Amino acid sequence: MSFHPPRRTLMGPGPSDVNPRITEALARPTIGHLDPEFIRLMDEIKQLLQYAFRTENKLTLPISAPGSAGMEACFVNLIESGDTVIVCQNGVFGSRMKENVTRIGATAVMVEDDWGKVIDLNKVSQAIADNPNAKAIAFVHAETSTGVESDAAAICALAQQSNMLSIVDTVTGLAGVNVDVDGWGADAVYSGTQKCLSCVPGLSPISFSDKATEVIQNRATPVQSWFLDMNLVMGYWGEGAQRAYHHTAPINALYALHESLTILHEEGLEQSWARHRHNHQALKAGLEAMGLSLIVAEEARLPQLNAVSIPDNIDEALVRKQLLENYDLEIGAGLGQLAGKVWRIGLMGYSSNPSNVRKCISSLESCLMAQGVPLTPGAAISAVNKAYS
Ligand SMILES: *Cc1c(COP(=O)(O)O)cnc(C)c1O
Repeated sequence: MSFHPPRRTLMGPGPSDVNPRITEALARPTIGHLDPEFIRLMDEIKQLLQYAFRTENKLTLPISAPGSAGMEACFVNLIESGDTVIVCQNGVFGSRMKENVTRIGATAVMVEDDWGKVIDLNKVSQAIADNPNAKAIAFVHAETSTGVESDAAAICALAQQSNMLSIVDTVTGLAGVNVDVDGWGADAVYSGTQKCLSCVPGLSPISFSDKATEVIQNRATPVQSWFLDMNLVMGYWGEGAQRAYHHTAPINALYALHESLTILHEEGLEQSWARHRHNHQALKAGLEAMGLSLIVAEEARLPQLNAVSIPDNIDEALVRKQLLENYDLEIGAGLGQLAGKVWRIGLMGYSSNPSNVRKCISSLESCLMAQGVPLTPGAAISAVNKAYS
């Protein structure tokens, strides 16, 4: 029997709601992956990704696997056994970076900050002073486990001044807040398609600076991953009409990515950031009207990922279950040390719109009232409406 998924509203940490224009693009006829028309599509995707990342890096393309593979691609290509990497950790994803570094046989020097806090620049400077021979500094720009945006420009500048490479996780950042690859001087960035690009999951846009590309081309040892070896991938995604078969690109998924990047280009980057911020403000007004608060300090909050403290005596898992079963609405649970302590409400990409904000606030209000929280029905929605007016 065919599988027919329920229709959900996706307001968790990803995937986000997929724009119907994108699912329609996905259903277009499959063509060969070396068809000249497909090569034209690949070239357009590279250009559109350069726009999204704000870069002129030639080595900018989507890895044929999810964001986690983009992370791995950056590490396995740039880092070799015996290298030292400064890894900043202020949430879940920094620990995965550490895992990537140690599995290569390199040393991870950890710079740790509390979950929910930004990466402390003084600690990064100290780690640089203590490890002047480190090859790279790796960090997460937008921590999806906590909803924190760290100062990517400043950390990349510290890396540049110390002649170290910067490796930046922009999976949740891209299209939701400013990701300025050339402005930051970032050397390697990776992202994902299912967060603020609102595309189907399973692809990872990445970009390497010329300096990083040179490092990849002049390695002492071959990249340990054959599939993610950019020296080989470049022959497939590289310039000119001549493309060497490396793997079969996920053709239809790339139609979808092209459509999602086209939608972003039509809207404009600045407009997309402004929309994310605007809907975040309205959500925040509704949450605060219910006595709920966000765990991240105002100046470091990501508009696309709202980590909300769970009030005392609330069965948080029951609330999520009721939202899903009664309202077809998915929000995220806390991860790692924030498990059971926060809900994560995503307003990513196509999901970032007023009707989703209203749906989330009114259904959350009902669930909280059902658990005995004394709220005035409709007060939270009034606060949302006021924020929009
Ligand atoms: C979602 C996410 C990833 C992993 O992306 P997948 O597509 O799930 O593999 C990596 N880093 C951050 C910050 C994320 O939010």
